[in-house]
Amino acid sequence: MKESNGKMYSLEEILGKPLIISSDKKTRIYGLDIKGREIEISAYAESESRKGYFHKVEIEYLPASMYLINGSCTCESFQYYGMPCKHMLKVRNIYLKNKNKINKY
Ligand SMILES: [Zn+2]
Repeated sequence: MKESNGKMYSLEEILGKPLIISSDKKTRIYGLDIKGREIEISAYAESESRKGYFHKVEIEYLPASMYLINGSCTCESFQYYGMPCKHMLKVRNIYLKNKNKINKY
């Protein structure tokens, strides 16, 4: 996946209307695509060190197993370790919490 470049985005730079905003406003889901058994989600998660700036997060996961099968995040942790970071897990959790509001399938 692309855009794993350490970049952060201010809200003004993020285009489109979020499908879901977490109650703490730190996680915002913008895109959702269901491909067979996989779900692809694109989202932004607020940086903890730089308030008001967001990392771009993309995940693919299998709802049946809860496993993340692919993804990326522009945060330093993901850049460094290449492992699912807290932002990726948060995006999945926020999606799970709110999916009934947006799934019309
Ligand atoms: Zn991250």
